[in-house]
Amino acid sequence: MRIIDVDFVSDLVDACQYFWSAGWGEYHAGNISYLLDEKELNQIQDYLECIKTVKVDFDTSGLEGKTFMITRSGAAFRTMKKRYEKDLGIIRFKENSYDILWGFDHGTGSPTSELPAHVLCHRARLADDPKNKIVMHCHPTYLNAMTMIHSLDEEEFTKTLWKMNSECPLVFPEGVSVLPWMVCGEGPIGPATARKMKNKRVVIWPFHGIFSSGASIADAIGLIEAIDKNAHIYVLVKSNIIHSMSDENVQELKDHFGLK
Ligand SMILES: [Zn+2]
Repeated sequence: MRIIDVDFVSDLVDACQYFWSAGWGEYHAGNISYLLDEKELNQIQDYLECIKTVKVDFDTSGLEGKTFMITRSGAAFRTMKKRYEKDLGIIRFKENSYDILWGFDHGTGSPTSELPAHVLCHRARLADDPKNKIVMHCHPTYLNAMTMIHSLDEEEFTKTLWKMNSECPLVFPEGVSVLPWMVCGEGPIGPATARKMKNKRVVIWPFHGIFSSGASIADAIGLIEAIDKNAHIYVLVKSNIIHSMSDENVQELKDHFGLK
């Protein structure tokens, strides 16, 4: 059996493919991490060996012994189906380091540069919901547009999204978090995102994208779908016209063509 034939691996590859088709995972955008449980570890045990150990400079307390499947730095979601052994990898945390156990092109690549945001978000979500398994990041088109035309106050942002559809308060009753704009990658944005995830499943990075989490891939994707769909409606109904014909221009047309 190939590792891609294991359900959770093929589900992850399908999720990447879906992000690309939705227009949320262009070029090297997007990253996903999945926390493996004992049953899933047993399913792929034969594939795992310590290829190398990598030191990290963020606080790994509470992560030791946890094993994640995670996308590679520079991975392309469009071609994930063909390149999953290069663009996915499995890592297990130790104190201040992790072992690469599979993938990343035999350990020559490395996990996404958003690794600290991912695993610190896992830790924050697990404290709130022990069933949490997934953290994903992508660039939803209409949500990014909404961050450019709406206040970034997270209460106001949440209320606007809730009002777009009667089902929104049911889908994300706890609301969404919004960070101020920050430099992405390794650095303060990871811990800042994790702090916001202590009591929310979604964190929005203005002018960039979203971090979503959940007990399953379907839950985490569903949240993004619901938020981007309603951001789309907001963008459609909010007038952002800065140039258009004036009343006088329309009158000129009327006069010129003799319109009634
Ligand atoms: Zn991004």
